[in-house]
Amino acid sequence: MDIGVYFSSSALIILSIFALRYYLKPRIKNIETEIYSKLLIVTIIGLGLEILTCVWFKMGVNIDDYVYKFFSKLTISYYFVWSALFYNYLSALCKYSKKRQKIFNIIFILIYIVLLCLPIDFSKANNTITPIGLMVNVVYALCFIFTILDIYLCIRNHKRLITSKLTPLYALLILGSLDFILGVVSPQLFLIGYVFALIIIIMFFTIENPDVKMIEQLNIAREQAEKANNAKTDFLSNMSHEIRTPLNAIDGFSQLILEENNIDVIKDEARDIMAASQNLLEIVNGILDISKIEANKLEIVKVEYEPRKIFDELVKLTKARIGEKPLEFRVNIAEDLPTYLNGDYVRVKQVILNLLTNAVKYTKEGFIELNVSTVKKDNVCRLIVSVKDSGIGIKKDNIDKLFSKFERFDLEKNMTIEGTGLGLAITKKLLDLMHGKIVVDSVYGKGSNFTVSIDQKIVNKVSTAKVVEEEKPKISIKGKKVLIVDDNLINLKVAGRLLSTYKITTEEVSSGFECINKIEEGNKYDLILMDDMMPKLSGVETFKKLQEIEGFNTPVIALTANAIAGMKENYLKQGFNDYISKPIDKKELERVLNTYLK
Ligand code: ADP
Repeated sequence: MDIGVYFSSSALIILSIFALRYYLKPRIKNIETEIYSKLLIVTIIGLGLEILTCVWFKMGVNIDDYVYKFFSKLTISYYFVWSALFYNYLSALCKYSKKRQKIFNIIFILIYIVLLCLPIDFSKANNTITPIGLMVNVVYALCFIFTILDIYLCIRNHKRLITSKLTPLYALLILGSLDFILGVVSPQLFLIGYVFALIIIIMFFTIENPDVKMIEQLNIAREQAEKANNAKTDFLSNMSHEIRTPLNAIDGFSQLILEENNIDVIKDEARDIMAASQNLLEIVNGILDISKIEANKLEIVKVEYEPRKIFDELVKLTKARIGEKPLEFRVNIAEDLPTYLNGDYVRVKQVILNLLTNAVKYTKEGFIELNVSTVKKDNVCRLIVSVKDSGIGIKKDNIDKLFSKFERFDLEKNMTIEGTGLGLAITKKLLDLMHGKIVVDSVYGKGSNFTVSIDQKIVNKVSTAKVVEEEKPKISIKGKKVLIVDDNLINLKVAGRLLSTYKITTEEVSSGFECINKIEEGNKYDLILMDDMMPKLSGVETFKKLQEIEGFNTPVIALTANAIAGMKENYLKQGFNDYISKPIDKKELERVLNTYLK
């Protein structure tokens, strides 16, 4: 018997026991482990084939027998399969893309089929049989190419592959070369299958050991958890700082008001409190918006709207924000702006308002320019809106970071300018949701130009004009009766107090159940203001139950702190007549009272 067959047999026995242990233990499932499993099986089959062909020959088979030739081909091609799998394994360690691996697999199968079709021959010397011929040469050449590719891969990715991961390659090179020299000196000592088995075992102890892999995965999971925790801590400290600033103003001015007797000073300080509250509200809304976007819970609600009205409102709001600042506000709105568009006007407005607000905030003097142009194709209108300013500008290095959460620049310069660094992050995400784009062009110290483009459908004839409503003239509402439903006593007090200034009679209840009881008892109201987030029975649930009561037709207004952008549309969809967000804006309250208490 060949000495080689003894090596192969012992390798087969050891590897089979080893495989049994490997497959019985729980393993982590990833691409490299999958390839390793295949390598293990292929090596066992390959060793089995080596032994089979050798023993078959010793038993006196006719070497021209087709079946024997076929099995010899399978044995030889095993070296190719093994080398290919090993290369694939290294690629997986280097995190090459799945697509690349797929292409590799297709090429591999094609070459394998061609290989099996190539001719094989045998040379007999000293009662030893050695396969020769075109197929054998091609297989050896391919194995050599794979070895070169392995080395290339490891050199290119040496940073990613720690030394232990390279050990099997070193082993393959050293043992493979030794085996090759031995094979030339004595063909009986051609032990490549044995070498492959050895490498498989080395791989297990260096990288594939399930215990080590398990620990690796646990470490990755721990690092991810730590990262998430750090992000949360950063977020909380950031927010705590941002919220404290307006709170400080609210708290400070409230204390001053308590000690002040001059009504003009009191009014002035109350106005400052209102401004700080508004700022606080914007921060909270920003956080809610971004968390909703990141949780993929933000929907784009498309309705028909009048773009010109939206831009008029934006201009009005920006003028109010400019106030006394020495800024020229230039506005150029395209004449050919369609009368009606279909899209999410709430978000479109939010995006542009954010750019305009930033322009006002970061420009001390000079100008702000709003340009609106359109490009129309079929029934789609591309709105191209640019907001230009002569403000502080943004450094080139910071432009890439502009749309990341909480990024604020030039803090020494911007110390007194309020902001959270959330606005542009929200803007970018909203634009992504609307398939829009934003481009920034800025020269530090000179000014910036933000351009957004959003595609909106053109509507020729408006069906349900859910367009921005005009303010209605004030009418007398004295003596009307309003029911306020809120689980929070302070909120009940604020709403009741505000309504009392209009000489309206109010009744206050602190749960949805009490509200239903009041209606079922036959009490009549002109309007119901309903909080939503109440324990046991929410505002929406209460509203649904109210509608089941026969003859109920009182207008119900959602009065809720659930106030992020888009919520109004949500409540209207549920069937509420209107919506007021908390904290209550007096103008909004008046609009609702004027509309429903006629
Ligand atoms: P915020 O204004 O609340 O800080 P944003 O996300 O809207 O947050 O903006 C992030 C940062 O980008 C700002 O803090 C500011 O440094 C910079 N920035 C945004 N717009 C402008 C602008 N028009 N001019 C100069 N800097 C700007």
